[in-house]
Amino acid sequence: MHHLKKDDPRLAALVEQEATRIETTLDLIAAESHSPRSIMEVLGSILNTKTIEGYPGRRFHAGCVNVDEIENIAIRRAKRLFGAQYANVQPHSGTSANLAVYFSVLNVGDRILSMGLPYGGHLSHGHKASITSKCFEFTHYGVDPQTERIDYDQVRKLALQVKPRMIVAGASSYPRLIDYEKIAAIAEEVHAYSFADMAHLAGLVAGKVIPSPVPCCDFVTFTTYKTMMGGRGGVILAKDEFGQRLNSAVFPGCQGTSAVNLIAAKALIFKLAGEPRFIEIQRKTLENAVVLARLLDEQGYRIISGGTDNHQILVDLTAKGLKGAAAEKVLEYVGIVLNRNVIPRDATTPGSVSGLRLGSAGITARGMGQPEMVQIADMINAVLSQPENPAELDRVKDQVKALCRQFPVYA
Ligand SMILES: *Cc1c(COP(=O)(O)O)cnc(C)c1O
Repeated sequence: MHHLKKDDPRLAALVEQEATRIETTLDLIAAESHSPRSIMEVLGSILNTKTIEGYPGRRFHAGCVNVDEIENIAIRRAKRLFGAQYANVQPHSGTSANLAVYFSVLNVGDRILSMGLPYGGHLSHGHKASITSKCFEFTHYGVDPQTERIDYDQVRKLALQVKPRMIVAGASSYPRLIDYEKIAAIAEEVHAYSFADMAHLAGLVAGKVIPSPVPCCDFVTFTTYKTMMGGRGGVILAKDEFGQRLNSAVFPGCQGTSAVNLIAAKALIFKLAGEPRFIEIQRKTLENAVVLARLLDEQGYRIISGGTDNHQILVDLTAKGLKGAAAEKVLEYVGIVLNRNVIPRDATTPGSVSGLRLGSAGITARGMGQPEMVQIADMINAVLSQPENPAELDRVKDQVKALCRQFPVYA
């Protein structure tokens, strides 16, 4: 970064501090992972220069000979990796991808059925703070209060009642598999489109360690930076019949020029995702999450839904007498980075955040396995059992540093 150091030493120092923070802390944020170095190279490359509008072969600016090829490769690889008929690699983010899906086949005011935020749904699935709720009329389903899993009978009942034009399956904090076939069958019964948002799950799906929604749903979106381990951005997969409408909905519908460096990073991660190293990381991500959930459960933490089928673990802190925010803060102090999260029980008390969300993708990407899950569970328990004991916190802080040194992100 010698050019950056010359142009802006303050910014360069912050980038270096961030690199140090990443190396010396445990990243348990479920929406993050560590990208390969080659992803960083392509993101920071000369591809940042090119302005493009439109699609390969049909651009609105000259000079697209190389970027057309890059976008075509990204599209081809996305389709092959996920077995999809159509792929759009231009969305700037998961939210942009979702907006384009809605606007491709729906009209303003149409009804959509999706999971509510307190149960794991995403802001872009019709939360009142999101523009999506101003454009469409959302009804939300939740989870069964006992099992804390999606109640497909409730989804069907709501679908029959509301007659939505689209049903969304997908979540930001839901540790169980989603039965996409059931969702698609309910959608078909009420003549609605089925749409799976697998933002968090794409890496696990690509690695074939959990089932894919692609064969059953009309639309699938995902982000490339969560378990997928690529650069930032979103992707849309769909059946061919929606291709034209999706192309127009992304550009010029919801976006202008697209970011060639992000598209190239997508192309790259779709290649790497077919290689044994990526597949092994996905397999271990799932295994580590299952182990970590069991260990925390054994230490007396209530795990939402009793366990996990993906990279996420949701912990209910109520019995421990802690709130999510306080737990997040004290864990960050020792170098364990995660986020507070609403859990189903919070749905009835607005503003209450009684849970923590943990993800295993980041720690697995740096090579950790079952012995390290034991250490991590013990450290989390030590901190949350004595959040006001400075000596204990400093002991764990040293332990986190030692563990991180043993498993460098970038050797
Ligand atoms: C993370 C996420 C998104 C949005 O991604 P952005 O890139 O932040 O816009 C969309 N849907 C779900 C379910 C997510 O978890």
